[in-house]
Amino acid sequence: MRTYKIEGVILRTNDFGDANRVVTVYTKEHGKLELNAYGVRRARSPMSGALQMFNHISAEVSRGAQVDTIREADVINFYSGLTAELERIGYASIFFEVVNRMTLPAFPEAGVYKLLAESLPALDRRNARIASLIGVAQFMEFSGVQLSYFHCVNCGVQIEGDAAISLADGGTVCMECVDEVSGDVAAYPENLREAFGKILNFDWREETKLNFSQRQIDSAEEILWRYVQSILGKELNSIRFLKSLV
Ligand SMILES: [Zn+2]
Repeated sequence: MRTYKIEGVILRTNDFGDANRVVTVYTKEHGKLELNAYGVRRARSPMSGALQMFNHISAEVSRGAQVDTIREADVINFYSGLTAELERIGYASIFFEVVNRMTLPAFPEAGVYKLLAESLPALDRRNARIASLIGVAQFMEFSGVQLSYFHCVNCGVQIEGDAAISLADGGTVCMECVDEVSGDVAAYPENLREAFGKILNFDWREETKLNFSQRQIDSAEEILWRYVQSILGKELNSIRFLKSLV
């Protein structure tokens, strides 16, 4: 029997049968994988604690004809928000759902793995809404469809002062080009651009206090969520869940 080892962060789990689970895990070695785990929902299963969404795990996997199977799993790090408030889980879920929906299986991207692994402790400790926003924004930089935040998508000029943004055109539009782009434009004030600068440059290992105004968070979130959902063509389950809480 051929086995291999992985290290990864669990993006999603899906139960099937009496006690089994499909685990979607973003691994360091192979990118996103969907793996089966049998008997995991039995109380005495040694894997039941490890194979939960948000956990950072190491595991031994055996190859199958169709799907590979997790044989053993250990927790490296976990997100205790899972047992905390629903709102906190909702925000963390947005980040994980975006990564899951926007990655293809078996395309390892070291930066995405690092982002997931490093953000886990912060999702727990920091303001969940801001941590989720930073996670989504930083993940999108690996997506190939990232927004242009600092240069005009039409003429390429580096933006200074207030500008506009068009999601359909892929980002910032300078005031000279506002009438030339095809999509709907919204206001993109200088202080929102500065907020995106802080968001994209944020280092998860630092203890830096993040200072954003409520308006900056609302606007940045609005732009990112709308943009991601326009690419996916559907509302995220986690966003619907979060809206149901209010
Ligand atoms: Zn321009």
